[in-house]
Amino acid sequence: MAQSTFSTHVGMVDILPDEVDKWQKLERIIHEEAKKFNFEEIRTPIMEQTELIARGVGQLTDIVSKEMFAFDRGDDHYVLRPECTAPVARAYVEHHLDQRGGSQNLYYIGPMFRAEKPQKGRQRQFHQFGAEIIGAADPAADVDIIAFMMSIYDRVGISNTTLKLNSVGDPESRKAYTQVLKDHFRPHLSEMSEVSQDRFEKNPLRILDSKEEEDQPFVEDAPVITDFLTDETAEHYSRVKELLTELDIPFEEDPYLVRGLDYYTRTAFELVSPDLGAQDALGGGGRYDLLIEEIGGQPTPAVGFAAGIERLFIACEELDIQLAEEEMLDVYIVTLGDEARKWGINHLPKLREAGLSASMDYIGRSMKSQMKDADRENARHVIIVGSHELEAGKFVLRNMKESEEEAFTFDEILERLTS
Ligand code: AMP
Repeated sequence: MAQSTFSTHVGMVDILPDEVDKWQKLERIIHEEAKKFNFEEIRTPIMEQTELIARGVGQLTDIVSKEMFAFDRGDDHYVLRPECTAPVARAYVEHHLDQRGGSQNLYYIGPMFRAEKPQKGRQRQFHQFGAEIIGAADPAADVDIIAFMMSIYDRVGISNTTLKLNSVGDPESRKAYTQVLKDHFRPHLSEMSEVSQDRFEKNPLRILDSKEEEDQPFVEDAPVITDFLTDETAEHYSRVKELLTELDIPFEEDPYLVRGLDYYTRTAFELVSPDLGAQDALGGGGRYDLLIEEIGGQPTPAVGFAAGIERLFIACEELDIQLAEEEMLDVYIVTLGDEARKWGINHLPKLREAGLSASMDYIGRSMKSQMKDADRENARHVIIVGSHELEAGKFVLRNMKESEEEAFTFDEILERLTS
């Protein structure tokens, strides 16, 4: 085959027709579960103001400091959104969604962009589904967000997952903890990785996220944040755990689970799968009570999650889960000669109006090729039309699965196929 002149950018992939069924199936599952949990869909632009993402996600995060696809046009600074929590929060503030009353339960599905080094489970354009409950401080909201996320994996059939849970505290508890954590790491800094040395001043909590081997001995015996929680935050965390237990949602506490962003408060969680290899996180989220204020709104408690669609599909492959059934075409019209083609073109709309999926050959192929095409399209039935059939007013209806055929008038065919 000739080499194509153009290709996608590295880390960006086409979703080809053969793969699209599973995407549509998953999207249907997400919409159906969202309905059950009473979440409403929100669609925000692919591009946002760079400043929103910098402030919303945090200047010191890898996403903002290294991975943004950003460009300027005149005085405007654009960024391809790397995540959707900050955009949804912006929309909430910009459109005064609080005035709709109550908390806002919102969900989204769409592409996100991060200039990361591509590898299995890590792309530069990838897709997330996620949800936010904005305006509710109660631990029940944290648990509802987790239950909504889990319900989607349940429906798909991915069950051997672990839900990791932690509380990352509030600013007061975090201040005390950060100090103790720095005291713990300081004597060992010279033995630690460069990344961790860099994080030590900027965002010491992120050292706990380190995958570098040389950091592990110091991370393993680091103090834990749960020892520094204020009473109110400790009470919130206990209530989340109680509710999860009541709802039979298993979880594992991981006191080193941090979501490195400054606006995260209290609950943090991550859903991991042993089927994903190095990039083992299916999704994650937490409470971000400070974000809405950070981007110019009134102080508003909120909690959310985001999950990777490509990683969900990798887990499906590993577990041999077929998300989509094979698509079938109801009818394929095989035509022989010009008159038969005209008949076909006139009758396709009638089949479609009756609610059937129907197709035919448009490029004048032989009968044999048309039959092959019908097979490739997974046609349930074929209508064979030639001059003899046109004269008789009866057409051969072939049941492709049973390999049986019989001649009928078109009305009889319609009746048989729709009954
Ligand atoms: P985050 O927004 O970083 O918390 O990521 C939430 C989820 O999105 C992760 O658990 C992954 O499933 C998915 N994800 C994040 N970054 C990527 C990426 N570069 N490629 C594919 N999936 C990703």
